[in-house]
Amino acid sequence: MYEMTSLSKTARPAEVAVYYGEALARYGFGDQHPFGTDRLAAFWNGLESEGLIDDVIVTEPVTALRDDLEAFHTRSYVEYVIAMSKAGVGFLDSGDTPAFPGVYEAGCCVVGSVLDAVTRIMDDTYSRAFVPVAGLHHARRDRAGGFCVFNDCGVAIEHLRHNHDVQRIAYIDIDAHHGDGVFYEFEDDVDVFIGDIHEDGRFLYPGTGSADETGRGTAAGSKINIPLPPGAGDSEFLSEWGKIEERLEAVKPEFILLQCGADGLVGDPLTHLRFSDAGHSMVTRALRGVADRHCGGRILALGGGGYNHHNIARAWCAVVRELVRQR
Ligand SMILES: [Zn+2]
Repeated sequence: MYEMTSLSKTARPAEVAVYYGEALARYGFGDQHPFGTDRLAAFWNGLESEGLIDDVIVTEPVTALRDDLEAFHTRSYVEYVIAMSKAGVGFLDSGDTPAFPGVYEAGCCVVGSVLDAVTRIMDDTYSRAFVPVAGLHHARRDRAGGFCVFNDCGVAIEHLRHNHDVQRIAYIDIDAHHGDGVFYEFEDDVDVFIGDIHEDGRFLYPGTGSADETGRGTAAGSKINIPLPPGAGDSEFLSEWGKIEERLEAVKPEFILLQCGADGLVGDPLTHLRFSDAGHSMVTRALRGVADRHCGGRILALGGGGYNHHNIARAWCAVVRELVRQR
């Protein structure tokens, strides 16, 4: 039965966009910072050596307008980032996220590329897309946090709501860190399903995302947080994933966002998880099935964290390989 539905909804070939360009690489905090400007090149080199470039549509980055940002962020926060970007010194938060000259424009490029991907998926130009420098899931509506200036995930959710009349959105986050900026800003929103697997907040920034955090008020039960202990590997990840996949079938999302941070792979300098890239492959494959059954194949994958260049290439290429696969 699923197979028939799947065939009818994916009759056309999957056109998968990958956003790539120098403007996107500018979102980074220098060579001494874990989130450097060289992360995009690490991914690109992997994509080339894996022979995946011919399978995707390479798409230039796009810049967001201020109004786009303010669909999610507060006006005063956007003004603060503009001022800090002009000054180009200090930190946007308490010490993780430096202000550099042009940080506002770099942040706009991340958000703009994500919104362009959303728009082109919704108008069927692309069936799926990947924006490597994106998934900045720690930024809140009114503040920066954890290397994240503007929360492209949050802006995308608001944009889907207000510009495309999409109500039921699934946000899946397999970054090693809890996606607090998405979770808390949509905690009371019953139509945003969140499934987030991450390292236990007692051992890792931002310290949140315990299993009993399932949403608030009428949205209680609409989110799944799965904290894993330090040292957890593929077997723990794969055995917990089923809880999210099972719920997705009931949610029947109209659009799927995947934050596929590479920082859970063994060897990441900031976290203590020990995944291989098998989880990234499996999750993307599973989401492809859910998307084909429920939302015309619509998946937008966002790079997220990852501070070991070899792992960035492995994890993100695993995602792209599954996005371009038909079934
Ligand atoms: Zn992370």
